Amino acid sequence: MLGTLKPQPADKILQLIGQFKADPRTDKIDLGVGVYKDPTGLTPVMRAVKAAEKQLWEAEKTKTYTGLAGEPEYNAAMATLVLGDAAAADRISSVATPGGTGACRQAFELIRMANPEASVWVSDPTWPNHLSILKYLGMKVEPYRYFDADTRAVDFEAMLADLAAAKPGDVVLLHGCCHNPTGANLTLPQWQAVAELLEKTGAVPMIDIAYQGFGDGLEEDAAGVRLIASRRPEVLIAASCSKNFGIYRERTGALIALSEPTNREVTQGTLAFLNRQNYSFPPDHGARLVTMILTDPTLRADWQAELEEVRRGMLGLREQLAKELQRLSGSDRFGFIAEHRGMFSRLGASPEQVERLKTEHGIYMVGDSRLNIAGLNTTTVPILARAILDVGI
Ligand code: PMP
Repeated sequence: MLGTLKPQPADKILQLIGQFKADPRTDKIDLGVGVYKDPTGLTPVMRAVKAAEKQLWEAEKTKTYTGLAGEPEYNAAMATLVLGDAAAADRISSVATPGGTGACRQAFELIRMANPEASVWVSDPTWPNHLSILKYLGMKVEPYRYFDADTRAVDFEAMLADLAAAKPGDVVLLHGCCHNPTGANLTLPQWQAVAELLEKTGAVPMIDIAYQGFGDGLEEDAAGVRLIASRRPEVLIAASCSKNFGIYRERTGALIALSEPTNREVTQGTLAFLNRQNYSFPPDHGARLVTMILTDPTLRADWQAELEEVRRGMLGLREQLAKELQRLSGSDRFGFIAEHRGMFSRLGASPEQVERLKTEHGIYMVGDSRLNIAGLNTTTVPILARAILDVGI
């Protein structure tokens, strides 16, 4: 039986990690993999996570199963983190999921159950896993224009023009903040315009928020989600705790579905059913840490302070890189690097230029020229700036 299997395409980022590891150059720079790194290159365990783990180790008396939907306290804390008070409790259904990927996967399955004919509209480009999971599930996908290759900002007119063709019952997938892979994001007035268009077309918004706190701040990064939640009756939200709590391998996320109050019970039951079909009980350790941190004022204050250090560090690197490129090139054409938010920026380089950065300079980024700002430090920024100009970007 297993002999009938065909090889699956290799994950491009994992391939890149392999190449980076095998590169003997000591001054090589990894701007590929999508994890936060501090200036020493470490992806640290956050202080509040360590403290919560210690408390948990001392207090935890059992590891028996939790609820199918995860712990109610976790679901409530995550709904408040993402939504604030933008949606009344009688509209909110929520389940814990294995990471933001698990939340996306469950959301797509929920869409397929509710409307097998739905097309899911995705930004061009989007996180490649969106596309591969949708394809795997046999769902219809429609791209919408998003990134302006010249300005490296959102091509908002084109985005609205494409999304005007969405049908009632289709789903429009939006990145809540810190768009992956481009770094280009909607302004609040643009979110407003998207809400108005969704109202006209009857398409349902799904918002993937995997970097809350990495852009303009915890509350600021949720402003778009909250606006949509207050304007549209139905919204799906896939949230990840991997980045903002630094608990990547604990697999901690949540799928939140907003519905009319009359549909809440069935929606909540369907989310729990989907958990049951796919993995039964969701992972608990990370979710428990997140609950402790979000509900204990001391842990929470320390977490927010460290998250803010991380966010400001990345912003500082963006500003340094944009300035250095301006100084070396004498042009403002790299100003977009300081305008982008989150861990990533799409440079807009050709595949050949990305290849030259790798072979000639030992600088690794994803083939579409997505660079991870957190892979830099104040010493490597000028090295990258010189290399970018050297390969003619
Ligand atoms: N959505 C987007 C846009 C992402 O970039 C990521 C992380 N790469 C995720 C979801 C999910 O991450 P995880 O499953 O590790 O929580």
